[in-house]
Parts: sequence; C-alpha cells; structure tokens
Amino acid sequence: MLTQAPRGTRDVLPTESYRWQYLEEKMRSAAALAGYREVRTPVFEHTELFARGVGDTTDIVQKEMYTFQDKGNRSLTLKPEGTAGAARCFLESSLYADALPCKMYYLDAPIFRYEAPQSGRLREHHQFGLECFGAQDATADAELILLAYRLLSDLGVKNLRVKINSIGCPECRPRYNGKLKDFLAARLDGLCEDCRNRYERNPLRALDCKKPNCQALVKDAPSMLDELCDECRTHFEQLQACLRTAQIPYEIDSRIVRGLDYYTKTVFELITVTKEGNLTVCGGGRYDHLVSQLGGPDLPAVGFGMGIERVLMLLDGEGIRIPEPPQYDVFVTYMDAYRIQAFALVEALRSQGIRADMDHCSRSLKAQFKYANKTGAPVSATIGEDEAEHGTVKIKDMRTREERTVPLEDAGQTVMMMRKEAE
Ligand code: ATP
Ligand code: MG
Repeated sequence: MLTQAPRGTRDVLPTESYRWQYLEEKMRSAAALAGYREVRTPVFEHTELFARGVGDTTDIVQKEMYTFQDKGNRSLTLKPEGTAGAARCFLESSLYADALPCKMYYLDAPIFRYEAPQSGRLREHHQFGLECFGAQDATADAELILLAYRLLSDLGVKNLRVKINSIGCPECRPRYNGKLKDFLAARLDGLCEDCRNRYERNPLRALDCKKPNCQALVKDAPSMLDELCDECRTHFEQLQACLRTAQIPYEIDSRIVRGLDYYTKTVFELITVTKEGNLTVCGGGRYDHLVSQLGGPDLPAVGFGMGIERVLMLLDGEGIRIPEPPQYDVFVTYMDAYRIQAFALVEALRSQGIRADMDHCSRSLKAQFKYANKTGAPVSATIGEDEAEHGTVKIKDMRTREERTVPLEDAGQTVMMMRKEAE
C-alpha cells in the first residue's frame, strides 16, 4: 500500500516530464496565438457547483465525483471537469464587466473522475482547456476547433478526425427530445439501466452511451439536425463555412452529444483511430446557458477540454517522438583531491547558464566517466593533477573523444563550443 499510488493515478517521472513540458509549451503558444490567457482555479469547488453546472443527470455527477465533507462540514468535490470552475471564477471576479469576449485557458488542470481505470481512462487525469465567454458567433466555435486541430497536427498526429454536431437550444431541443423519446419508447427494454433512468429527463444521453447494446439500438434514431430552429441552423452553417475556409476536414455526426448537460448548439470531438478503437482526445462545445444557470448574466460561451495523457498516448501510438533534452551540457569529473575546485567550476559554469554537474557520490574517476556517459552529457570537463597545477581544465567531446585543455576561465566558452559541435 505504502509504495503504491492509488488506483487510476499515474506519476510523471523525472525521466518523462520533458514530454509534458514539451506539450505545455506548444499548448501555451497555441492558446496565446488566439489571445487566450491562463487562468488557475482551485482543485476543489463546492459540490453544488458541479451538481448545478455539469448537470445531475450526467455520469459525472451521478457516479464519478470525488466528493468529501471537510472539517467545517462543507461538501466539496475535486474538479471532475474544468468548465464549471472557470465559469464560477468568471462570475465571482465579475470578468463579464470587462470588454468581451473573455478568453482563458487552463493547462495541466488535474481532473478527478471515479471511473473504471483502463487504457486511456484514469481517475486523475489532466486537461488543457479553453473557454471563451461572451461570444455568440460561430467564428468563436470554429476558432477553438481549429486551434485544437492545428495543435495536434503540428505535433505530428496523422489520423485525426473532427466530428461536429449541433444539439440545438432550449427553443428547438424539446421538440427533438419528444421525437427521440417516441423512438426510444419502443426500445426501452433493450437499453441499459442508466439510459432507461435518464429517458424522461435527458433522453439525449442514450445517443452518447458507450454500451454496445445501446449504441446499436440508437443507430437509426432521428437526428437533432433535422429539428434545428432557424437560429441554430444558421449558426451551424456558419461554423461549417469557417471550417471549410480553413480547409480542415470535418464530419457531421449527429450522435455526438457530449457527456455534460450544459451544452447548446455546437458540440465537437477530435478523435483518433487507433488499433484499440477510437480515442477521443478533445471534446468541447457551446454552453450558452451555463453562466446564467450559475446565477450570472445571460452570456453565451464556448470551450473545449483536451486530455493530456491521451495526447501523449496517441503520440506514442503513432510513433511520434518528443525530443529529449540532455540532462547536462557538461559533466565535471575530478580527482578526489580537487573536489572543491571541481565544485567551484560547476558553480562557475552554472552561473553562465550552462547545465553542469559533478559527482556527489565519491566515485572513482573511471566511474565518474561512466556515470557522465549515462546522463547523456555531450561534453566532460576534467580536473586532474596537471590541470589543478596549471589552473586549466581538460574538455572532452564524449563521443569523438577529442580533447582540449584550456585555462579555467575559458571553460564555459569551450564547453559551449564543443557542445555545439557534438550536436
Ligand atoms: P470519454 O467519452 O472518453 O469518456 P468524456 O466525454 O467523458 O470522454 P470530456 O469530459 O469531454 O470527456 O473530457 C475532455 C477530454 O478529457 C476527453 O476528450 C479525454 O481526452 C480526456 N478524458 C476524459 N476522461 C478521462 C479519463 N478518465 N482519463 C483520461 N483522460 C480523460
Ligand atoms: Mg467520460
């Protein structure tokens, strides 16, 4: 127990964190390109926020939340998604009083869901998410889809599919819900317990159910797209016009409805096709009534969430390698008698912005070189008897074994020169 992380969680090891940092950098610049700025909200919120915001007919709220009572008897919940917290923050700080839209993103936000752990499904995962508050135009929806698509294709992802749908608004969805219920009524016995339970209040859920039985039964269900009101239809057409202009391939899939209650109009998913089946890396959509539902002004909004672990998984699956930076530019090796001189040299190198280290484990000179090799340091800098006597240091290209002995004060410059040559 003591040495085992809780089920469904994963460590990011020091040897692999560069992969996360690489993604973070790409995600930050993708968001910044479109004017999104970072927001950081707490890991837990009042449970009520999710019950109200995410919706109490969703899987997330019904089954997946990590809810606990704190010592002051408040019911708190670890964030099961990013949007509700962002919306709460937007409201609490009255950001709606500024010029709109208000564009924000969160990076590596930990998300907690009590799900059955399996490949690509964790109990703690991390999301990169964007939210755009106060923009009703379809250009905002399209901008987000494009941002996610470009980000992933710039990372080298090949088998990417963009699926879009519109699930209408409170004007047109009730009519559709009626038709869907009529369709489902005859098939109710075959649906899973969850779908049966949600049939009255949220029949749309059945379209999103992952159970093969339910999926087969809803295959020929009526499409929301046939029931859209004029406003929703025009919005959906404009979204498509934007996507066509940007020349990104997309598919309309009327069974994409997303797992959260707050969506209106646009919903979308970015999916990759893997050996094990489809993997959703990014999901989002428009939520025009969430802000007012939380007690704020009636403001439209749109956003998405992208699972970082899934992005990493799909990069692995497609054999895309993230470049691993070497741990050091130079490794300082020394004879035991010159430990302090070696320490001074490491400090001098670091003060010049050079990533340097030395042995801290009383290794022999030979073992130090072996260790230096292991770290992947391209260059070594050695202080032996001769060097100590003459105030010099011997710099060596670890691969070609080419050596140069230079005065101590030139060490940094020579290291960087030889490091470049070693690349
Ligand atoms: P799924 O259909 O796979 O259950 P979802 O609709 O529940 O996904 P969202 O709530 O839209 O997912 O979350 C956005 C993204 O976060 C997903 O597209 C996915 O990349 C990632 N994600 C969601 N749940 C998990 C999880 N349990 N483990 C890892 N990543 C996840
Ligand atoms: Mg889910």
